[in-house]
Amino acid sequence: MKISSLYRSQDPNLLRKIRDGVREQIRDAMAGNGIKVFFRADDIAVPSKNFSKMMGLFLSYQIPLCLAVVPAWMTPKRWEAMAEFRKKGQDLFCWHMHGYRHMNHEPLGKKQEFGPARTARVVLNDLTKGEERLQTIMGKDLTPVFTPPWNRCGMDALIVLKKAGFAAVSRSLGSLPAAPEGLQDIPVHVDLHTRKETSAEEARDKLLEEFRAGLASPVCGIMLHHMCMNDPAFLLLEYLLELFSEYGQIRKITYKDLIS
Ligand SMILES: [Zn+2]
Repeated sequence: MKISSLYRSQDPNLLRKIRDGVREQIRDAMAGNGIKVFFRADDIAVPSKNFSKMMGLFLSYQIPLCLAVVPAWMTPKRWEAMAEFRKKGQDLFCWHMHGYRHMNHEPLGKKQEFGPARTARVVLNDLTKGEERLQTIMGKDLTPVFTPPWNRCGMDALIVLKKAGFAAVSRSLGSLPAAPEGLQDIPVHVDLHTRKETSAEEARDKLLEEFRAGLASPVCGIMLHHMCMNDPAFLLLEYLLELFSEYGQIRKITYKDLIS
């Protein structure tokens, strides 16, 4: 996976400028209603150095994290390898489902695993297999929320999710089709690691715009991709966790707090 231009920059002040920008936005947002924020890490299943480093950071700041697990990649052995984090984190981590095989099935247009190209029957079949697999491996640790790969899915998938008892779907802000009644929509606003801008300055500006929109919303969602993180990306994450910890008035939550 590619590292964003933001983290390939040689400018030592760039990340501090982002931190200071977000701090200003927090102050502005606090003048209004209270701030709620959640972090969501995608493409979870395979233990790695980056995975452990990310989990260690959230544990040390005691900030909750939603983890989007790819069913086909998860195995009992890999789940067992994460036992230590589960034990240390207790209620800090919210494990939920991220697609089935994380494969694109759309011949045209943007990537989707559960887009309109496949029949409702095939969509149902894949979602059921994925959920059963995670239930078998993870049991009660699984929260009934679905994050579609690439933050997109079609109406058939949304209807299946609702019928299967999922409480919510998490996509990018403004995603369509709208979730049917009874299935909550919990969007992410900020994309920390899969940014496509070619210049770091542009990436910084766009990132700050996303933070501004997120912090002005009832709940701000921040998306992580640990496999695309390098040292500067970890540094910015730490700046953010430190910053959010400084403000006790900011509620750091997971999907569990929003669906119960
Ligand atoms: Zn993904």
